[in-house]
Amino acid sequence: MPKYTGPKILTAMAVGAILSLGTLPGAAVAAGLPATVQSAASVTSASTLAPANTNSISVAAARSIDRNPNHLDVFVNKSYPLKPAKYAPKTKTVSGTGISLRTEATTAYNKMVKAAKKSGVRVKLISGYRSYNRQAQLFNQYTRLYGKKYAERISAKPGTSEHQTGLAADVGNYNGACALQSCFENTPVGKWMKKNAHKYGFILRYPKGQESITGYAYEPWHFRYVGTSLAKSYKNSGAKTFEHYHGVATTKKSSPKAGKGTAKTTANLNMRSGAGASNRVIFTIPQGKNVKLTGSKKADWYQVTYSSKTGWVSGTYLSNISMPKSETKKKETKKKESKKSSPKTNGSSKKTTANLNMRSGAGASNRVILTIPKGKTVKATGKTKSGWLQVTYKSKTGWVSGTYLSNTSAPKKSKPKTESSPKKKFKTKKTTANLNMRSGNSTKKKVFLTIPKGKTVEITGSKKSGWYPVKYKSKKGWVSATYLK
Ligand SMILES: [Zn+2]
Repeated sequence: MPKYTGPKILTAMAVGAILSLGTLPGAAVAAGLPATVQSAASVTSASTLAPANTNSISVAAARSIDRNPNHLDVFVNKSYPLKPAKYAPKTKTVSGTGISLRTEATTAYNKMVKAAKKSGVRVKLISGYRSYNRQAQLFNQYTRLYGKKYAERISAKPGTSEHQTGLAADVGNYNGACALQSCFENTPVGKWMKKNAHKYGFILRYPKGQESITGYAYEPWHFRYVGTSLAKSYKNSGAKTFEHYHGVATTKKSSPKAGKGTAKTTANLNMRSGAGASNRVIFTIPQGKNVKLTGSKKADWYQVTYSSKTGWVSGTYLSNISMPKSETKKKETKKKESKKSSPKTNGSSKKTTANLNMRSGAGASNRVILTIPKGKTVKATGKTKSGWLQVTYKSKTGWVSGTYLSNTSAPKKSKPKTESSPKKKFKTKKTTANLNMRSGNSTKKKVFLTIPKGKTVEITGSKKSGWYPVKYKSKKGWVSATYLK
C-alpha cells in the first residue's frame, strides 16, 4: 500500500490554490487538486460511521428525523443519504464569492457575516452548495487517484454530502490561516463562528472527538444552516452532535467477536490512516483496550478496528496479538499462488559463506541494498530466480546470489524443477557471461577452465547451493547457476 501522504499534501495544495491564487475550489480541482472541504481537508473515515441499526443510544426526547430535503432541518449523513439522491435545492450566490447556498441559507449567511464584520472579524466563504454531479465528479476523481476505498475516506459519496442540500457552508479567514484544518478553531473566524453561528441558524456539524458518530473528523469550519430556532434549541440541548440530538448516535461494539483476531493496547495508542508514523492520526485508543485485527499487517503495523473506527497502529504497543485465522489462510493461499511459477525453498534459513551483497533484484546488475557479512543466517522467502534467492536479513528483503549461501535448514518441499529432473539426459543451458568452471561447487574451488559467454553447456546433475555440475568441451566441473540460462 502506498503511504497515505496524499491528504496532507493535497490539503496544503488545495488551500494554497484557493487562497493564494484566489481561485474557486472548482479551479483547484480542474488543476487536479482536491478543493472541497469534505474531501480535501477532512480526511474522514467513511467506514467509521456506524449503521443506524446498531446499539442505538437515545437521548431523552430526541427530535424525530426529517428526511425531506426541502426542509431546513433535513437530516443527512453517510447513513442517511439524500432522498432523492440527486436532489437539487434552489440556490442563490453569496455575492462576491461565486459560491451559492440555498436561498434561505444565503440570506442568513449574509446577516451573519455582516455581524461578524461589525465585531472586526471577516468571514470568508470557501465552499457551499455542491450538486450531486459535482460530488460524483469529485468522488470519481479521488477514486481514480487513490482507489475507491481511500476515496470513500476522504470524500462523501454523491447523495450523502450535506453540501448537496445547499445548507452547508465551509468558512475561513481571508488570510488563509489554518484553512480547512483543525487549528482553524483558534483563528479569529473560527472562534467567532463557534461562539455566534447558532444565533444566525448555523450549527457546527462535525465537532471534535465525534468522528465515530458523525462519520467526519473534526471540522471547525463546516457549518450547517438549520434555521435560528432549531440552532438555538440544539445549542441549548447540550447534545454532543446532531446525531445525538436525533437519537441516532450509534457506535459499533468494540468488543471483538470470538474467533476473530484481537489484541490489547499496552499504551494510549494512535490509530493512523496508514501503516507508518507519518500518517495522520485518526484517533487515540486508550491503554488496555481490546482492538479487533482486520488481518492486514505491514511491517510491524496492524490494521485494527476500535470503537467503529478502522486504522493502523504500531504493533509495539499491542499485546496478546492473535491474527484472524481466515485472513491468515487467505494470505497463505495468495502467497502460494504467486509463487507457482518459481521454484520454492519454503522459508528455510541459510548461512552466508562470504560477505554477500543483497540486491534489489535477481542479478548482479541490481542495486546493492546492503552487504550481509559472512557467516550470518538469512531467511529465504522462497522466491528464487536463476540462481538468485530472495532473502530477509535484519528486516530487509532483497536478492542474493545462491552461490554464497549454505543450507542450515533444509527446504521442506517444492524443490526447484531442475533438481527434480536430473534424469533427463543432455539438459543444456547457455552461459550468460564468461564463466569459470571449477572443481567443486564453491568459489574456493580451483578454476580449471573459463567458458566463454554464450556457449552451451550440458547439465550433468542436480543444482547444489546455486551451482550446477556441467560438461563443456568434454570437461566436467561446476559453474555458478547465476550465469546460466
Ligand atoms: Zn463542509
